Amino acid sequence: QEATLRQVQKMEAVGQLTGGIAHDFNNMLAVVLGGIELAKRTDDPVAVRRHLDSAGEGADRAAALTRRLLAFSREEALKPEAIGPGALIAGMTDLLDRTLGDGITLTTHPGDRDWHVLADRVQLENVVLNLAVNARDAMAGRGTIAILTGAVTLDDGAIGQCPAGDYVTLAVRDDGCGMTPEVAERVFEPFFTTKEAGKGTGLGLSQIFAFTRQHGGEIRIDTAPGQGTTVTLYMPRHHAVAPAAPLAETPGSQAAG
Ligand code: ADP
Repeated sequence: QEATLRQVQKMEAVGQLTGGIAHDFNNMLAVVLGGIELAKRTDDPVAVRRHLDSAGEGADRAAALTRRLLAFSREEALKPEAIGPGALIAGMTDLLDRTLGDGITLTTHPGDRDWHVLADRVQLENVVLNLAVNARDAMAGRGTIAILTGAVTLDDGAIGQCPAGDYVTLAVRDDGCGMTPEVAERVFEPFFTTKEAGKGTGLGLSQIFAFTRQHGGEIRIDTAPGQGTTVTLYMPRHHAVAPAAPLAETPGSQAAG
């Protein structure tokens, strides 16, 4: 009985993983196809070049994802590193601007303290991209998305299951349609989506939930119909190790062949 339950849970986890990867891959294909489509519509060689560069960048990201997937199937671990979310977001603004489209204004608000989190960079970037695309989808092509990063010291139980301590916060706020309590209650369920077939997989937030919990963090959603939505990640602060002992390059972490 126990073993069957574990097997079912394992199958569910595999299903969520593959679905999640398909979801991310789809986002990247959207960048590629968008660039090609825009290039086709213009005769200006400079603009064509720019759109093709953008398509190329999307293809590069997709290639990086499949490389990571292959690495995963060889059971190589992800590469956690110390990341300051302010710098992470700053490095993503070009990609986000292009992905979100013209009607949407993106603002970024780095906090005073840029504490570090320990996470895989590509995974964390995908979390941000996912939240931004959700925010965009909640607006009829027009509105403002704000990305806020910060630092907070929490008491035990102040936010979900977080033990007392220092946390890095990363919030994506939109002034879109917001959610009814019925929708808000279900958003972390795998395959729950209110989007039309082909547009949503319902895996974005369940993946982000799993990612956050795996890192010892919590995720909070503040939303109301017509009032927009703020999704906030609380990730435990990582005290960076001395550069003399880099985490990623300990001997033996390289698989042979
Ligand atoms: P998907 O985006 O593929 O539907 P998600 O798990 O990311 O999957 O989101 C699940 C659902 O949560 C969405 O279909 C939508 O109804 C709701 N949702 C997520 N983000 C927002 C947001 N920023 N504003 C309003 N609704 C949202």
